[in-house]
Amino acid sequence: MAGLRDKLPLLLGAKTAKALATALDIETVSDLLRHYPRRYAERGELTDIAGLELGEHATVLARVEKVSKRRMKARNGTILDMVITDGKRRLSCAFFNQAWREKDLVPGKTGLFAGKVSAFRDTLQLTNPEYELFEADREAEAMDDFLAAIIPVYPAAQGMPTWSIAKCVRQVLDVLEVDDDPMPAELRRLHRLSDLDTALHGIHRPDNWAHLEASKKRLKWDEAMAVQLIFAQRRHSAISRPAKANPHVGGGLLDAFDKRLPFDLTAGQRGIGDEIAEDLASDHPMNRLLQGEVGSGKTVVALRAMLQVVDNGRQTAMLAPTEVLAAQHARSLREMLGDLGQAGELGAAENATRITLLTGSMGAKERKKALLEIVSGEAGIVVGTHALIQDHVEFADLGLAVVDEQHRFGVEQRDALRTRGAGDTSPHVLVMTATPIPRTVAMTVYGDLEVSALREMPVGRSPIKTTVVPVAEKPAWFERIWQRVREEVGKGHQAYVVCPRIGDEPPSDKSDKRPPLAVLEVAPELEHGPLQGLKIGVLHGRMPPDDKDAVMRAFSGAKLDVLVATTVIEVGVNVPNATAMVIMDADRFGVSQLHQLRGRVGRGSVPGLCLLVTETLDGTATRERLAAVESTTDGFELSRLDLELRREGDILGAAQSGKKSTLKLLSLLRDEDVIAESRARAQEIVTEDPDLKKYRGLAQMVSDVVDVDRAEYLEKS
Ligand code: ADP
Ligand code: MG
Repeated sequence: MAGLRDKLPLLLGAKTAKALATALDIETVSDLLRHYPRRYAERGELTDIAGLELGEHATVLARVEKVSKRRMKARNGTILDMVITDGKRRLSCAFFNQAWREKDLVPGKTGLFAGKVSAFRDTLQLTNPEYELFEADREAEAMDDFLAAIIPVYPAAQGMPTWSIAKCVRQVLDVLEVDDDPMPAELRRLHRLSDLDTALHGIHRPDNWAHLEASKKRLKWDEAMAVQLIFAQRRHSAISRPAKANPHVGGGLLDAFDKRLPFDLTAGQRGIGDEIAEDLASDHPMNRLLQGEVGSGKTVVALRAMLQVVDNGRQTAMLAPTEVLAAQHARSLREMLGDLGQAGELGAAENATRITLLTGSMGAKERKKALLEIVSGEAGIVVGTHALIQDHVEFADLGLAVVDEQHRFGVEQRDALRTRGAGDTSPHVLVMTATPIPRTVAMTVYGDLEVSALREMPVGRSPIKTTVVPVAEKPAWFERIWQRVREEVGKGHQAYVVCPRIGDEPPSDKSDKRPPLAVLEVAPELEHGPLQGLKIGVLHGRMPPDDKDAVMRAFSGAKLDVLVATTVIEVGVNVPNATAMVIMDADRFGVSQLHQLRGRVGRGSVPGLCLLVTETLDGTATRERLAAVESTTDGFELSRLDLELRREGDILGAAQSGKKSTLKLLSLLRDEDVIAESRARAQEIVTEDPDLKKYRGLAQMVSDVVDVDRAEYLEKS
């Protein structure tokens, strides 16, 4: 008999156990049994070949279509060419010097084929795939064995194909004994969940589809509960510190600011503004996430919140991910406030406050002055990078911290923020993100925050047209890109060219992939080639801050036609005259990043143009992602598509074959009910027993199922 914590060598033999550990990081019975099938193949139903990823280890259930043998010219050997099919698409396979396989691989036979996906002459290929052919269908029917009809397909690795994993799982399940179900019996009854033993059998070797579904449901609950328990504990500790209340002060700065606003707030800005105002007036710390597309007007919402707090005699901070952005925020806040933000200067309004910028690259004298304004409380609004919190800058009385671009700011930093209020209080916290995320993701990834979304855009935005440029299939289009850029410049507009890499890194010879295009290589090529005669500037994160500033100013002032840059321009940069963006090696960026990037164009009165240049081939998963970005500019719709396109295991950024990939079964797209219900249950349990002293099983499950660190990386990939 074997328990979940047992090691595998005794059960499977040292050799197999070692192979599992090396290939998939699987060490214990629990590791193996939580290595769930990626999908299930049904005998007679072939796998869709579309959607394979270059470089990935793939397993497909396919039919052999044709096989042919040829001699290699250069060396003395043979190649066996095979084409397999899902009935719609074909995938070519090549075996080197394995001609003897010809007698197994008879056209018409079906089986599982596994290997690393590569490209050969612009088509996808498996080289020397491992395979397991099925018995003739007649035999299977004769066996009349329903079990054999549902074939689990595991996330596999080279040398450890799915059918070998299945064999190990079978051996372990045969001797498995689960004596202690971590999920409390009452909760199982309430939500009709199978017990763990039944569920583990059912996920790997289902008797029928109903058994499989019931098992999945139970194991999804394990994942959902584990995640929600962590967040419930986090919420619990966040509100255990009080905050200071900041009620609305009639006739204060906020009222003065509202009176001068040159536009009407959108309904969303007003509604969310009211929610925030109420939070700020309470003595529980606010923990709110404000999401809204680039340009949806988050800054106004944040500024109004800050003014309400400043009206109560407290300080506020705005944290940005980069120095460029911090400086830009300080500038635009000063502009918006005018004389209301000029305390200490000539011509300041009567009860004006002061906006103080603090960045790491400031000179010693400037820095000292800023620090003094902050510690004395003179600065009502302090703007800086996240370092403002990490460096333990001392505030007189910090009442509210606004964090811009949340996805670069993790839970630990949020926790650090909570200790920065005066005395034992916690400041109110408002985090803002321009990456729209579906509600279920928000509940899961930012489960410790309340979520508000600005869904409408203020009037006067221009549309952005996005086009994928597949240069591998259509090389002629490459020329056309630069013609389009010249046309835009000819009309007096400007353009961005974005590359994934800077280009001053030491060369790495680890990868067989071409390194991504680099700013420092592409810029001179354009300058001496297709964009000759245009004024081209370069911007990347490793330039000295002064140089960065100078380039940004030159570009804003239209002294440059084209800016070749890394993703440093991704957030917050605002140059309305820039109308075109060319993203090189677009496949190297994530969906939300591409969406964010193109938000830099179409900010003026002219429609924007975004070209996604890629060498990836049609039919790959990467190309599907680019097509999604092309298909819509609605960030919420896009984040939903992105979620659909990602493999389940990738959702929280876990490595494909990594141990403890955070969520393997729970789909943030389809399991909204499980997520919402488990959130409620977790809240009840933590309220009753914050440290899970009475729920040892659950506490253990939290650490078994969830890799907390990984849960942070959703948008970083
Ligand atoms: P975000 O921070 O969400 O990207 P901003 O707050 O920077 O967006 O707003 C983008 C632009 O829209 C700014 O120039 C801002 O002044 C303007 N704006 C904000 N709210 C409104 C509104 N209700 N009506 C018109 N313009 C607005
Ligand atoms: Mg902004």
